[in-house]
Amino acid sequence: MEQQQRAELEALRLQKARLERDVERLLTLDQLTGLYNRTAFINRVDAALKARKEDAPQSALIEFSVSGLPRVSGALGRHAADYLLSSLAARLNHIATDDQFCCRLDYKSFALFMLEISDPLAALTLAKNTLKKLSEPVDWVDRKVSVEVAAGVALSSKTENDAESLLVHAGLACRSAGERGGPGYAFFNPALAEATRRRADVVVALQDALDHQHLALHYQPFFDCNTGELAGFEALMRLNHPRMGTISPVEFIPAAESAGLIGKLGGWALAEACRIAANWPQDIVVSVNVSPEQFLDGSLMTDVHNALELSTLPAYRLEIEVTESTMMGDMEMVHPQVQGLRDMGCAIVLDDFGTGYSSLSYLWKFPFTKMKIDRSFVQAAEDQPKVRGMIGAIMDLSRNLGLKVTAEGIETPMQAAMMQGYHCNYIQGYLTGRPVPATDVAAIIMKRFAEKLRPQASVTTLELPAQRRLAD
Ligand code: C2E
Ligand code: CA
Ligand code: CA
Repeated sequence: MEQQQRAELEALRLQKARLERDVERLLTLDQLTGLYNRTAFINRVDAALKARKEDAPQSALIEFSVSGLPRVSGALGRHAADYLLSSLAARLNHIATDDQFCCRLDYKSFALFMLEISDPLAALTLAKNTLKKLSEPVDWVDRKVSVEVAAGVALSSKTENDAESLLVHAGLACRSAGERGGPGYAFFNPALAEATRRRADVVVALQDALDHQHLALHYQPFFDCNTGELAGFEALMRLNHPRMGTISPVEFIPAAESAGLIGKLGGWALAEACRIAANWPQDIVVSVNVSPEQFLDGSLMTDVHNALELSTLPAYRLEIEVTESTMMGDMEMVHPQVQGLRDMGCAIVLDDFGTGYSSLSYLWKFPFTKMKIDRSFVQAAEDQPKVRGMIGAIMDLSRNLGLKVTAEGIETPMQAAMMQGYHCNYIQGYLTGRPVPATDVAAIIMKRFAEKLRPQASVTTLELPAQRRLAD
């Protein structure tokens, strides 16, 4: 009897220990990946940092952030995204040595902590190598799935010597690495913290602007290179905040993209540009810039459709400007939308050609109607014969593909003459007109109309409006 009681007690003791282990696992481990969760990781890092000697070498914390998971979930289902995350976690765990520990920080990010590093470069090398491993495709059923990973590195210092500070710094570095379109990794530096504060202010200003109509579109004219006639206007967004003053789109567009506001902003721009352009003469088009994110948030086609329907602007008078980064997103998601816009009757313009990758495959895979050669390219061509050769080749290529070409950022008569010499189709830049508010567009249109009524001498070389102005 006593023996049986002892056995039962032993069984209960074992059961209790098992339950305690389960509770401990639930509290410290991430259920999906089996890595430490955020809280357990912070506790371990803090304990390790506290136990260090005063003169110990620096510690480093790297955050890895995965982007593109919604695309994977959308295309292949939630299980695929979960499987991908587990596979990345297993790779990270495999890389971490005994004196390093890793965790899953939140849905899409991981962290790796090194208690002692020989020098900052060692941390950067580890970040680079780990990034490379994590970025390799994962096999899912019959296909390979890839996501983009960014890494941010933070180093401990005498004042920043706790897990929370290191995590904040690594997170800021990681976000900046993900946005820069560079190598995908970055070190934390204090300027990043300042930039993040400013970014947060800009996001608040944007939200405010959306609520109180502080946003405006300005319109920059572009001209037909052969006839000199006004061909259309590019709509460029402006934000004039009562407290922060004028904020450049170069700053607020990326802020809107990262804060998830670009869908609203872009939808507004499409509706507003179409509303205004519907009042212009029939042969004048409007170009609207569209962000890569707008292709991902699913409302672009509806926004374009509604903008055209409400304004009654015929689709052939709306040009959608996309950049190469749009094409670099998920082909399966982006291509049907670009084709859909083309089928609606809109023109599709490849913006900023000559920057970025300038991949030739996009040119035949996507139904573009026009490409815009970037300003930096036009500028470089002035004193670099090689670049002139490249512009010549781009012109031949576009002719063969049936694409029209706009030269952007033309500031001098010499640049205009050079691009005319290449039989470029359109010209746009400060030389022929800066972006102006909607109310000033009528004056530009009327001026061109008046010029058309002037008796014409026979023209052998085209006179662009600015050249006329110079001659006046
Ligand atoms: P982008 O689409 O390449 O637009 C051309 C930019 O070059 C405009 O700057 C324009 O003002 C400027 N520009 C035009 N001619 C000249 C010139 O001769 N010299 C120089 N130095 N600059 C010239 P802006 O308005 O500051 O816009 C900057 C960028 O912000 C745009 O570059 C575009 O990428 C983005 N952006 C502007 N509006 C929108 C929008 O409504 N939606 C989206 N997604 N992006 C926009
Ligand atoms: Ca543009
Ligand atoms: Ca451009």
